[in-house]
Amino acid sequence: MRRHRLVPVVVALLIVPLWAEVSLPAQAPPARSAPPLTLVSAEGRRPLAVVLSGAQEMVALDDLAPVFGLTIREDTVARGVVVSHKDKTIVLTAGQGLASVAGRLVSLPAPLVRDGRRWLVPVEFISRAVALVYEAKVDLRRSSRLVVIGDLRVPRIVARQEPLGNQVRVTFEITPKTGHAVVSQQNRLLVRFESDFLDVTLPAASVQGPVQALHLVDPATTIALELGPSYGSYRTTVVPADSPQGPMRLVIDVMTTAAPPQPAQPGQRQEAPLPPAGAAPPGIRTIVIDPGHGGEETGARGPAGIVEKDVTLSVARRLKALVESKLGLRVLLTREGDETIGLDDRAVAANSNKADLFISLHANAALRRNPKGAEVFYLSTERVTSEARGSAARQELPALGGGNREIEIILWEMAQTRHLAQSAAFAELIEEELSSRLKMTARPVQQAPFRVLVGTNMPAVLVEMGFLSNPDEEKQLTSSEYQNVVAQAIFEALVRFRSQVERGEQVRQAPSAPPPPSWP
Ligand SMILES: [Zn+2]
Repeated sequence: MRRHRLVPVVVALLIVPLWAEVSLPAQAPPARSAPPLTLVSAEGRRPLAVVLSGAQEMVALDDLAPVFGLTIREDTVARGVVVSHKDKTIVLTAGQGLASVAGRLVSLPAPLVRDGRRWLVPVEFISRAVALVYEAKVDLRRSSRLVVIGDLRVPRIVARQEPLGNQVRVTFEITPKTGHAVVSQQNRLLVRFESDFLDVTLPAASVQGPVQALHLVDPATTIALELGPSYGSYRTTVVPADSPQGPMRLVIDVMTTAAPPQPAQPGQRQEAPLPPAGAAPPGIRTIVIDPGHGGEETGARGPAGIVEKDVTLSVARRLKALVESKLGLRVLLTREGDETIGLDDRAVAANSNKADLFISLHANAALRRNPKGAEVFYLSTERVTSEARGSAARQELPALGGGNREIEIILWEMAQTRHLAQSAAFAELIEEELSSRLKMTARPVQQAPFRVLVGTNMPAVLVEMGFLSNPDEEKQLTSSEYQNVVAQAIFEALVRFRSQVERGEQVRQAPSAPPPPSWP
């Protein structure tokens, strides 16, 4: 019943402003120009003039017509404009911040206005009206003044530059994640993105440091870092996005010739003293789970063709779901899907997300078929130190030009050293939980120089969940029952470890942990 009484009111509200405003002159005050928008399409780029009507940015319908194939017809009776695209129409009426788009009403921040012989519409007309009738995607990006037409890859890139001792760190936040390559070319570093165009915000660079300028170069999918005379070397690290929509980060540390590099991992402060007791209550808040291998790197392969990268990702997802649902902690995976990710980048992801615990998941392989059982590892730094001097460890280092390698290896190495006792304690808890549920090897807890653990700045373990080379275990490793058992065991170990940490329990010193490093 109440509805009936409302109808006349609504009709009156619609009619009165229509009638009142149609009689107003639609002629705008003289328009002032504003910076143009850039139209980006498969055909290339071109500017689209923008004028200001008051504070409102407006574009001319005549300029939009050739771009989107619009025909424009003035309706003098209705004091409006009919814009058509193929069989679809947009009706605009003078004085009204509304458009009827293929029969649907959309609001505009301002009415269309006449400017001499042209009709001007608010820039939002592109996203709110034209986008609804045009056959390809139309994406108006106000802040970067772009109109992207069609299915183009135009990642949003925000660059930051910060001094870090005698080096400069340039960070690119890239949304969505986009393939890229960094190449050194004479006096510049070129960062090439796998894209059609870049939607980029660049900082003003200081002419003093090793990076003197950052700018977009042709093709407009490349950003150049102009290097100064003090440039020595650079290294890159990639921090994966922590959510599918989140930005990934590409970090380029540019070192001077003289300066030893600062620790290059975001969030990692290897040179800083241990945090003072009582600064923050000890606890486990963020956990990084690292599904071993991925992408081109399949890891071990079983006789039936099961690959390690699939098993590790599946168990990682089960463990993440358990921890999130039962403990409500923040859990990040170093990869969400089948991606190739470097060993050091996995540690960097954990460090930059300030993880309190790092769990790397793997499945074993042996030349013979009979070895079987799970085992848990934490880092052995004695062997890393000797192996780091060999070439094998060097090959796995992130890209680094120049002669600062030795220093960097030592810094990387030290990150895990201070956490070894806790890593050993956590490894033993996992061993206890696993061995009560499934078969273990003869040496269930071991130390080994796993590269992925070296740079982690938090307690870190690596779990070999079984032997893919053993046909029985290969079958088990792919079953959800077995995967759930492994996830449950690690979860229980985590619950016990967390309560130890929260009680501030003194963990026993790891048997072969070296003395604490002396910081330079
Ligand atoms: Zn592996």
